[in-house]
Parts: sequence; structure tokens; C-alpha cells
Amino acid sequence: MPSDAANEAIQQESAYILQTYPRPDFVLERGEGVYLYDVEGRRYLDFVAGIAVNVVGYGDAEISRIITEQASRLIHVSNLYHTVPAGKLARLLVESSPAFDRVFFSNSGAEAIEGALKFARKFARQHYGEGKTTIVAFDGSFHGRTMGAVAITAREKYRQPFMPVMPDVRFATFNDVDSLETAITDDVCAVIVEPVQGEGGLRVADHAFLRRIRELCDQHHALLIFDEIQCGMGRTGTLWAHEPYQVQPDMMTVAKPLAGGLPIGAILLSQRVADVIQPGDHGTTFGGGPLVTSVAQAVFQRISQPQFLEHVREVSSYLDEALHDLIAEQPEQILELRGRGLMRGLRITGAAGAVRAAGHTVGLLVATAGEDVVRLLPPLIVTSAHIDEAMEKLRQILTSE
Ligand SMILES: *Cc1c(COP(=O)(O)O)cnc(C)c1O
Repeated sequence: MPSDAANEAIQQESAYILQTYPRPDFVLERGEGVYLYDVEGRRYLDFVAGIAVNVVGYGDAEISRIITEQASRLIHVSNLYHTVPAGKLARLLVESSPAFDRVFFSNSGAEAIEGALKFARKFARQHYGEGKTTIVAFDGSFHGRTMGAVAITAREKYRQPFMPVMPDVRFATFNDVDSLETAITDDVCAVIVEPVQGEGGLRVADHAFLRRIRELCDQHHALLIFDEIQCGMGRTGTLWAHEPYQVQPDMMTVAKPLAGGLPIGAILLSQRVADVIQPGDHGTTFGGGPLVTSVAQAVFQRISQPQFLEHVREVSSYLDEALHDLIAEQPEQILELRGRGLMRGLRITGAAGAVRAAGHTVGLLVATAGEDVVRLLPPLIVTSAHIDEAMEKLRQILTSE
């Protein structure tokens, strides 16, 4: 039974907050490392990380110090003026990959997507005239909730009630090379793809698939956009999820983990694309403000260190083995292991929501992806001991079902 304090918080939310999320009946109050605590003091091992956001976990001393120092120095002045932190962060991002020369900062993932779509449309119009406006996206994609982002998000349910959304979108089949040939034609201005799909079920793009997209984009003068909002920044064991493919995009969207929990988004773009954007073409009041960008600098510097990425790869292979063991024990219940690195999905026979709910009882937070995939997204500072604990709890849940 929730306490009075929890009840009051839950009742106020139910009464006054627009009900777009069903939430479990506990109230989170604080976090430490890979654990969250509710107002009653119950502890939860967190394999959600605020949906792939809290890469350095909770209560990080350096992050708190930077927030405090920067907040007392300067929080916001708008993009009408120069400040110090944004440029430094942009430089770090640009230097992280040969594909990119410039950055535009936004406040969220969806906004980064919107900007990338606008830049692609302008690029095509400026170079090839009217009519080259189609965006190709894929089944299982998720790109956000704004009108442009839902238009390229595959799930009907996110789009249908809000029609008409952004026109000129074509969906092709993820990892189906043949579907690319018919989808990517001369009227296409951009193809957008997640190298590892998030909400859409943790599917990993095949090498041949991404390579073929790049070839067809070049052939038909379309831009290639990678959405690394969920899979980027260390989560798959390399700084950017597309690195192992050796395919360079023209633009990339980043957001969730970039400021370790503060809201931020970014579009990384090549000079060729940047050249079509003039002052006044796009903008944002809050984007790239000194508070979030000073925090993001610290998060980015820590994540991009070779030893940190090496840690992610080590715990990733530990998690991979542990999940294979779990499947071997529960072959009837777990049908498939998906994803890469610290972004894994278990497709199960039952409802993923039931596993998530049972996790709340045993003190484990997991997410879902669709109806039948349990999604694991621990903070990147997770250790093998945390993984053991999570597996024990998952075992407990699966055997009691
Ligand atoms: C979460 C997500 C988005 C949208 O980000 P918001 O910050 O929620 O707007 C876009 N693309 C991918 C791959 C995501 O995971």
C-alpha cells in the first residue's frame, strides 16, 4: 500500500496532469548510481535509465557541481548572444566523427528530427528545385511526437489521430535491401534510419542494409540521416552506433544521453548541408543554452574516453552472456534476444508489460518496446554485479509467471 505521501503525489498527478502516461503506484524521490529510491525508501535497480538518458547514473558529483556552478554564473541568454559552453560542446561533437562539420542544438529529440527534416528539404530545393520532397523512413521506426517526427514514425497509432501530419513520407522495410530499390527514387530528399531501433523493437541494422542505403542515397542525390537519439553516445559500445558500419551519414540526430539527464538535442551535419542554411532559416529560444551545454560537455568527455567505452563493451559482453544463459533456462518464455551493447530486447511469449509490472514488485525497472519486447537500457556505469542482480530478478519474475 502506498503511504500518505505517495498517495497525495499520485492523486495530484492524476487530477491535474494530462493523462498521457499510465504510471505504476510508487513515487520516485532520489537516485544513487544505478539505483532509484521511492518516497517509502524502497530501492529499484534501474535498467531504464530515464529511457537511455541517464548514462552516468544518478547523483553524480561532477554533474551536480557543474550544474550548481553554471547555474550561479549563467543559465540562459537566448541564441541572440555568444556564450562560452555551446561552442566548446559543438567542437567536441564535430571532432568525434569525420562526417560532421557543424552542430545545431535543440531541446529534445523530436526537435532535432524536425530540424534535420527541414534542412533536408531546403538542401533538395536549393540544389534540385521543386518536387524532391519525399522522406523515406522504415517500419519499426520511432522518431518522436511532433508533426514531422510522427509522420516518419511507423506505428499508425502515433499518427492516425492527428492526421494530416507532414506529407510526402514513404515507408520501406527495415533490413530489406530489396525494399530500398523501390523506395529510394529521384523524388527522395532524405532517408532516415536508426542504426539500432529503439521503441520499434531493438532491431539492429544489417551492414549490407546501411551500405545499400548510402549507395542509393548517393545515386538519387538524397541525404542520409542517422537517428542516434537512443542508440548513440556509447550505448552500443562505440561512441556512435554507426561506427562499426563504416557508413557516413550527412546528418545525425542526438539527444537522450547527451546532457546526462538535462533536456538537449543536437543535429550534427556535414558542411555540404550546412551551406544551404542561412541566418534566420531555423531557430530556438532555449537550444544550446549555457547550463545544459556545460553539463553535456562533461558527460560527452567522460563517455567518449576510450576506457569508458571499453567498460561499456566489457559489461555488454557480460550482459550478452547472462541473457543467453537466461534464454537457455527459459526457452519457452524467451523467443529472441535483440539489440546490441547496453540496449537489449527480449522478445517473450507473454506481455512485456506484465514483466515490467512484476519488476516493480521485485525492485527492478525495465522498459518495453511494443507489446512483446522487454527492453533493457541500464546506465552505462552499470557493473557485472548489477547485471547479476538484474538477471536474478528477471529469473524470479519469469519463473513465477
Ligand atoms: C526518444 C527518441 C526520439 C524523440 O526524442 P524526444 O526527446 O522524446 O522528443 C527520436 N528518435 C529516437 C530514436 C528516440 O529514441
